[in-house]
Amino acid sequence: MGRECLAETYPLSFPCKLCPNGCRPTLKIPNMPHLSYSGAVQLKRELRETNAQVITPDDENYAESITRFSESSEREAGAIVRVTSTSEVSKVINFATKRYIPVVVQGGGFSTSGSSSTYGGIVISLSKMSKVVVDPASRTLAAQAGATWADVDNVAASSGLAVVGCTVNHTSVGGTALGGGYGWLTGRHGLIIDNLLSIKMVLADGRIVNASTTENTDLFWAARGAGQSFGAATELVFKAHRQPNLVFGGYLYYTTDKLPKIVEFANRFEQLSTGNEGLFFGFNAPINMEATMIFVRPFYNGPRLEAEKFFQPILSLGPIVNETSMMPYPQINTVMNRAAEFGGRKRFSGTNITLPLQVEFMEELYRDFDKIIKTYRRVNETVVVFELIPYTEIIKVPSDATAFANRGKYYNVGSIFCWYTPELDKKMGSLQNDMMHKIGERAGASLGEKLGDGVGLYANYAGISPTSVD
Ligand SMILES: Cc1cc2nc3c(=O)[nH]c(=O)nc-3n(C[C@H](O)[C@H](O)[C@H](O)COP(=O)(O)OP(=O)(O)OC[C@H]3O[C@@H](n4cnc5c(N)ncnc54)[C@H](O)[C@@H]3O)c2cc1C
Repeated sequence: MGRECLAETYPLSFPCKLCPNGCRPTLKIPNMPHLSYSGAVQLKRELRETNAQVITPDDENYAESITRFSESSEREAGAIVRVTSTSEVSKVINFATKRYIPVVVQGGGFSTSGSSSTYGGIVISLSKMSKVVVDPASRTLAAQAGATWADVDNVAASSGLAVVGCTVNHTSVGGTALGGGYGWLTGRHGLIIDNLLSIKMVLADGRIVNASTTENTDLFWAARGAGQSFGAATELVFKAHRQPNLVFGGYLYYTTDKLPKIVEFANRFEQLSTGNEGLFFGFNAPINMEATMIFVRPFYNGPRLEAEKFFQPILSLGPIVNETSMMPYPQINTVMNRAAEFGGRKRFSGTNITLPLQVEFMEELYRDFDKIIKTYRRVNETVVVFELIPYTEIIKVPSDATAFANRGKYYNVGSIFCWYTPELDKKMGSLQNDMMHKIGERAGASLGEKLGDGVGLYANYAGISPTSVD
């Protein structure tokens, strides 16, 4: 990409992967020791004048504080520090780096790769940094990085505004935004990072810096797409957009015989879409239904009549469940929250598709999915989602304008494989890999015009799990 090496300016504990210089890490970290008991006592002492709460293994809320979306990504940390300010984050990072103790940041805890957990190190938990303020006059919204998208959606809505945010509202603002961020409003306003105006970060040497298009511009470039690698974000400022109207959404379930018609409709999505629509569909086997179902999550940002006209080809197919309605924008981001419940073992992975999809191929995938559900115990929460969010706004931003590497004329596929016993870790990992590879190879963008400069995989969906095959 011909950019200057970021490791020359920002202290990194790993080589900067964003440049071709083959740079060396600038922080020298030998075999990292774990936080000892006396280290934890020292950490508590160092933070005693602050509002930060240090939780160690002997505290009664320790078990709850290392809980994650997936049990397979939980680790026994040396200490969890629930910080309340940027300066506390800086203190913790200084404490850890001086002693070569591993430190990770936890936002919502949704990573299934274990990247917000640590064996024996320090977790900086942002759960208490969740303030959100909106300025209707300038149409901007500032959020602390530990806020959830529910916090953001509700505050923005109180002023008739909305911010591009996650389609599941439990995830944290920092964790989602730093990797790029797709939401229902992306078709109209671009990615979450395309609406990011500035960011406050604590670097590995404890320095607190702001980054924007006028300040620390190289860091701002990196923060938009690869931000988790460059420091702990503590505050983010976003553009907010007018959102006075209700939106159409909800969920629909269909029996498998409707799959060809749903695929047919999806194949026309690109021609029909004006940027105000979204269409998620895929496979899922809800516990109360006997077979693997086809689910559809429609989205329309406009009047009900227009929405029903747009989705008429699938609304008229006779869904066995139709829970669609007009709703305030914050509510649309609660529709899929069941997929975001903590508990059990999970692995997130993704790939991409281009349109048109072949009906026969989609039927084959349905059979593959159904076989997994029928073969293994308690895997029915598993879900594969084809996410048709218009990419027109995404590809208006040049690929080298930010570190985000997934701009192309294709759509994300996300999958969460769910199970309950460690014995299934490897099996579920390889089944998921096989399915994502198959989709990518047979229905994804290969090198060429559609892929553009995109890599074909959204980094926030590349959640590999060290406990499974990778
Ligand atoms: C059910 C589900 C639905 C999803 N839907 C969407 C969607 O609609 N759109 C979308 O774009 N993505 C979506 N994602 C992906 C999601 O954005 C990522 O999993 C995201 O990284 C979660 O962030 P978190 O803070 O909640 O998780 P965490 O596990 O706490 O963090 C994830 C990673 O980000 C790092 N991190 C978190 N906060 C910070 C910070 N402030 N500073 C530096 N590093 C930080 C952590 O260290 C970790 O490496 C979904 C994920 C799930 C599980």
